[in-house]
Amino acid sequence: MIQVDIFSGFLGAGKTMLIKKMIANQVYNKDTAIIENEFGEVAIDGAYLEGSGIQVKEIYSGCICCSVSGDFKQAIGEVIKNYPVKQIIIEPSGVASLSDVLKIIKDGSFKDKLILNRVITVIDGTRFEMYRNNFSAFYLNQIQHAKTLIVSRSQFLGAGEIQHIISEIEKLNSKAAIITTPWEILHGRAIAEASKDSIKEELIRKVSMTRRNIKSVTGMQQPPAREVFDSVGIEGLNPHDKTVMEQILGTFENSNTYGEILRAKGIFSSQQGKWYQFDYVPGEYEIRETQPYYTSKLCIIGKGLKKEALVRLFQK
Ligand SMILES: [Zn+2]
Repeated sequence: MIQVDIFSGFLGAGKTMLIKKMIANQVYNKDTAIIENEFGEVAIDGAYLEGSGIQVKEIYSGCICCSVSGDFKQAIGEVIKNYPVKQIIIEPSGVASLSDVLKIIKDGSFKDKLILNRVITVIDGTRFEMYRNNFSAFYLNQIQHAKTLIVSRSQFLGAGEIQHIISEIEKLNSKAAIITTPWEILHGRAIAEASKDSIKEELIRKVSMTRRNIKSVTGMQQPPAREVFDSVGIEGLNPHDKTVMEQILGTFENSNTYGEILRAKGIFSSQQGKWYQFDYVPGEYEIRETQPYYTSKLCIIGKGLKKEALVRLFQK
């Protein structure tokens, strides 16, 4: 049986970074394959995982729980058939329904081949209220069906805010273990332990086993992601200096200019041939130096995106 670990979470929650950390900390090694799903037209995250020696399968231009679920099943089948792996990591797109992904894993065709191990959902603590209020159909499903919930960016929250998020999460999912220590400072093995059966008390606030009355969100129907979200993918950007890219990302907050941008990420080079990768979520961006890559590319996901204006911005 191949163990399956799922890393779910809304757009920009930090799933790929968490997986990367757990690989770096040798929780996962060469007996692991990753099925990486991106809603956008251009795959970015696979590039970050290159060089790890781990087999990465990318499924992009759609979501594995709905529009490209056929590709997803096929990818699982290929991994089982072609790679002698002991574990498969699945990273669904940020807009995937976790319950639908779980349904596919538990599907009759994989019954005697796959066994579900970790089901982690990463929650951006600093945007919890915003996402819950605006994207509840996508967001709540990911929280409700997780076995472990990791609150990311908790270092930017006060104790009271963390407490509030925990109590809100517990209303949605009273069984999951909740990790609120910033995962960046935890060792990957500690996270691995915490998301298995044995739970370290100091890392985790174990949730009481009494099941609370779950509010009537359970029956919420999730619309197909492509009816709600847009994406723009560009390969081969013009060179951009870091400061220019900072200015651009600074304008993403204003939805009048390019539409409502929820997530952007990519790899680009400067005129001087320096390479960078960047990440954007509403109100926050990061640009880091990186290794040269064979092409520059980016992906933007949002609502009501002004695609032509965005393309012009990067390909003058
Ligand atoms: Zn989907």
